[in-house]
Amino acid sequence: MREGVAFVTGASQGIGEAIARRFAEDGYAVALAARSDTTQLADELGDALAVECDVTDEASVESAIDATLSEYGGLDVLVNNAGIAGPTQPVETVEREEWSETIETNLTGPFLCAKHAASALRDSDDGSIVNVSSVGGKRPYPNRSPYAASKLGLVGLGRTLAAEFGADGVTVNTICPGPVAGDRIETVIEKQADARGTTPEAVKQDEYLGDLMLDEMVTPEEVADVAYRLAVQHRHVTAQDVNVDAGMTWY
Ligand code: NDP
Repeated sequence: MREGVAFVTGASQGIGEAIARRFAEDGYAVALAARSDTTQLADELGDALAVECDVTDEASVESAIDATLSEYGGLDVLVNNAGIAGPTQPVETVEREEWSETIETNLTGPFLCAKHAASALRDSDDGSIVNVSSVGGKRPYPNRSPYAASKLGLVGLGRTLAAEFGADGVTVNTICPGPVAGDRIETVIEKQADARGTTPEAVKQDEYLGDLMLDEMVTPEEVADVAYRLAVQHRHVTAQDVNVDAGMTWY
């Protein structure tokens, strides 16, 4: 029996793919939203729908959510995971377009998805939104100003949506992963090394691994599991930002 319906943005790879797999494992139908084709993953998961979606484009978001509602007749969980790293440069060299693209993807995207999923989530018996932010907003790294602004903005958006949706029983929480093992963090570290004129190994040790109480990065599957639990199992946890970061931050 189907447990519910989840719409996951950025489901084509990385953490979003892990989140999609986690919901599918527990009997959720999953709409796999991304700009690239997610048909192969949908075929693998079975009860899943590949939906083309650019979260920065309101018409695209609306049509992806409509397609999900047409296919499944409702929506219980929205996971706002799609995000980009943005530029890794000192603020005085960041182009306005780079700033805007980062904010549009990481903050406007979740706003648009919440806006167009709102009515279906309110109608659900167990509606939930999980946003994927970053400790990068809380423990700021130099050279990442658009990213940090977008991700801390997402924490504020999440708290506000929790207050707006609470009366309809919809929970809204935000996960702040620390560095997550995988290709993306290695690219981020390489760009930081370039920006600072040092080596990736030095940046990784000093500012990423060195800051973790547990000495190793979390995995996409751990982030996915927390997303699943927040959405499905903890129905009285809302308006929270939850660090999943191997002990990097505590605020
Ligand atoms: P990846 O770069 O591996 O994946 C990003 C996903 O977002 C892709 O599926 C991509 O799909 C999608 N995406 C990007 N732009 C858009 C867009 N405009 N519309 C729709 N989908 C889009 O990143 P991760 O899996 O590592 O990161 C996922 C989230 O976790 C991000 O929000 C990131 O900021 C956050 N995070 C990651 C950390 C890490 O160490 N990896 C640490 C902390 C937070 P496509 O290109 O097909 O559209």
